Amino acid sequence: MRRADVAMYAAKSRGRDNWCLYSPTLDDRRRERRELESDLRGAIAAGEISVAFQPIVRSRGGQITGVEALARWSHPTRGAISPDLFIPVAEDSGAIVELGRFVLREACSQARDWPFLLSVNLSPAQFWDRMLVHDVLQTLAECRFPPERLEFEITETYLLRRPDAAEEVIRDLRRHGIKVSLDDFGTGYASVGYLRRFEFDKVKLDRSFVEPVVSSPEAADVALAVVALGSALKIPILAEGVETEHHAAILSTAGCEFMQGWFYGKPQTAAEIDASLRRPGRLAAPNA
Ligand code: C2E
Ligand code: CA
Ligand code: CA
Repeated sequence: MRRADVAMYAAKSRGRDNWCLYSPTLDDRRRERRELESDLRGAIAAGEISVAFQPIVRSRGGQITGVEALARWSHPTRGAISPDLFIPVAEDSGAIVELGRFVLREACSQARDWPFLLSVNLSPAQFWDRMLVHDVLQTLAECRFPPERLEFEITETYLLRRPDAAEEVIRDLRRHGIKVSLDDFGTGYASVGYLRRFEFDKVKLDRSFVEPVVSSPEAADVALAVVALGSALKIPILAEGVETEHHAAILSTAGCEFMQGWFYGKPQTAAEIDASLRRPGRLAAPNA
């Protein structure tokens, strides 16, 4: 019965209309997740979580216009654990609210004196937390970080389920000067209607569209069409995961106003960002 139960949960996690045959690896995966979950609970207090900052640059001129804050977990025995692994665990267990607060506070205090925007990812549980705006404003005040320099990145999954409520949260954030951008665009179901309705400050074209632009003419056409759509709606487009000069050339010709990716700079520590701000020719993208 227990094994059947494990298989049922695995099937459910794959979405609707699925089935799954029990195998011992399912138990292993569950055990690993549970361990991760309990380790994560103590990780913030133990100082194992830190924030890395990845530059966002303007295509024209390569100037840094912002950084995205990305959570990092350095586990005492397992070493660095990818956010793709621990963020979903934090989301399922509810730890994401505390983790998100920590990242925001840490990022705002480290980025306070930088002359550009700070983008922070917002998970659904945080987005739907009634105290969100209150908590955020309090953190900003404590860190003396101006709301106009903060941008939240949300994904379209939030908008679909309760568009009216989502619109209210977004409007509330923007009323206080905080920017809101749409992350991972193209991976879900956001329609042109949503783009118009929510008036995002930026739309981030997902890496999965950017990566194949050099190898597939169809992918390049899709990227082009999305950028054209953004321009028609007067929403600036950012291309994520720009890894090579070739990517950068195609996407900037297509009209992407902003770029982010290893070509322009990997996620770095605050000290590294500080150091590059002090170098002559500062604010120019590291590899551009
Ligand atoms: P994301 O928001 O789409 O963040 C961009 C991811 O792409 C980051 O992965 C970044 O390191 C990676 N990346 C940037 N440039 C390149 C590139 O040129 N090539 C490739 N291959 N990858 C690139 P990371 O740091 O592993 O984060 C993964 C995801 O975890 C993020 O995706 C975001 O959804 C989530 N995440 C990270 N930190 C936080 C956080 O503080 N709060 C929340 N809610 N989610 C977070
Ligand atoms: Ca993001
Ligand atoms: Ca993204």
